[in-house]
Amino acid sequence: MNPKKALIVGSGLGGLTTALRLAAKGFDVTILEKHHRAGGRLNLLEKDGFKFDLGPTFFSMSYEFDELVKSTGIEYPFEFIELEPLFTVNIDGIDKTFTIYKDMDKLAAQFEGIEPHFREKMEKHLNKTETLYNDTINRIIHRNFNSFPEYLLQLTKVPLKHGPLIFKSMWKELCESFESKEARMIFSLVGFFLGATPFDTPAIFSLLNYIEMRHDGYHNVKGGMYQIVVGLLKVLKEKGVTIHYNTEITTATSVDGQLKSLTDRQGREWTADYFVINADAAWFRGAIFNRPKFNTEKLDKMKWTMAPLTVYLGVKGKLDNLQHHNYFLGSNFDEYAKGVFKNQVSFQKPYYYVNIASRNNPDSAPVGHESLYILCPSPDLRFKPDWSDREAIVQNIIDDLSERSGYNLNEMIVSKTILSPEHWGEMFNLYKGSGLGLAHDMNQIGWFRPANKDEKYSNVYYVAPQPYPALVCP
Ligand SMILES: Cc1cc2nc3c(=O)[nH]c(=O)nc-3n(C[C@H](O)[C@H](O)[C@H](O)COP(=O)(O)OP(=O)(O)OC[C@H]3O[C@@H](n4cnc5c(N)ncnc54)[C@H](O)[C@@H]3O)c2cc1C
Repeated sequence: MNPKKALIVGSGLGGLTTALRLAAKGFDVTILEKHHRAGGRLNLLEKDGFKFDLGPTFFSMSYEFDELVKSTGIEYPFEFIELEPLFTVNIDGIDKTFTIYKDMDKLAAQFEGIEPHFREKMEKHLNKTETLYNDTINRIIHRNFNSFPEYLLQLTKVPLKHGPLIFKSMWKELCESFESKEARMIFSLVGFFLGATPFDTPAIFSLLNYIEMRHDGYHNVKGGMYQIVVGLLKVLKEKGVTIHYNTEITTATSVDGQLKSLTDRQGREWTADYFVINADAAWFRGAIFNRPKFNTEKLDKMKWTMAPLTVYLGVKGKLDNLQHHNYFLGSNFDEYAKGVFKNQVSFQKPYYYVNIASRNNPDSAPVGHESLYILCPSPDLRFKPDWSDREAIVQNIIDDLSERSGYNLNEMIVSKTILSPEHWGEMFNLYKGSGLGLAHDMNQIGWFRPANKDEKYSNVYYVAPQPYPALVCP
């Protein structure tokens, strides 16, 4: 019997791993990718002798990869590097740079004289979020919900003591856990990892602190993050999976409740028994399947995550004061966090994240150089459609980083690339440039999130962080 044909739209991490799972089950798999290179947002920029991770710079939840490897029977296709310290945080106006360790003794030493009884408070916070994780991982986090009653039923199985975490914000939870603004700000950064702010992220997502600080940690990959894609592509080739690049799906035809074919921008028609959509699940339903519930007007009213302004700098000289991950925050945290994604704050002094890939992967820069990547979480194109000021904003960041790191970067830069939200949107069809898709509001998670089985076509599925409760790589 001929194997069933599966067509996957998108070669992001979701598309590649689904291709692997399906090929391991005997499907004949083809991937169609809009971009010229696989990986989606987990991509690579090679320029002037430097290599930059385009988007993701670390992983948590590495156990999800263990499960993939085990269930598909492959050799591990790449090698993790566990990071310790996890990251540093520099807050404008405070002399000290905080180094955040997984090791509790070292971590507690960072907060001496700043947060009284830090260790007890941190242990309490991590114990609380650990219990929440254990009580929800199988009931909620790892599940799909095919009906609202099923979702409600699962929610009722979560112990009542976690109830308050559903109704308050992450910021409120952290204010109850810590007294100092430093500890509150630093441990609320996981809200930004979700592409939102701790003020509008439900407290339940504080469980990320447990996952990252106690359960799993932070991981980089030997040779750079793109080695994940390189490793997966090698396995997929061995399994006979074909990938067509520069192939963007623009329309669809259906018959009797089944998707019949997809057509690309060049007019080529693609047929299959099953279709898996790795593009944004809400956007694809609206733009390609023409579903009124997901038209532009409706999508604009939904809550989307931050849009990335990213900068890739090749630097001559070494930047030993900086770690693999570094956060630079200002002194107006509440005002900035509440206004930034609505374009209500000035970009004179933006908040930003700096990654030195060459710290753990020396091959990413020529000898005596560093590859430096800056991410400035920014408003999406609904709130800031015009990015003609991108150079000026980036210059503000470079000047600020020079001052706070002690390196005159303006004299050290030998390569510079800037990507603003419209570039990100265009490259990977990210709605209005939103970097992490739909936000994790209570009314946009679980049953309320676009499902990963299509509501109309019985042979269509979605794989992307958008339908699944998580939104990071694994
Ligand atoms: C700047 C930035 C930093 C990040 N940092 C981290 C991090 O440090 N750690 C972490 O875990 N996560 C991070 N993330 C999130 C992470 O990158 C994503 O969650 C993950 O890569 C998404 O994978 P995906 O396969 O679901 O989607 P994508 O990577 O978006 O893949 C979807 C693919 O579908 C293709 N596509 C879309 N429409 C079509 C179409 N019509 N036809 C054909 N192809 C199409 C796209 O080109 C793309 O290749 C970051 C994201 C960004 C933007």
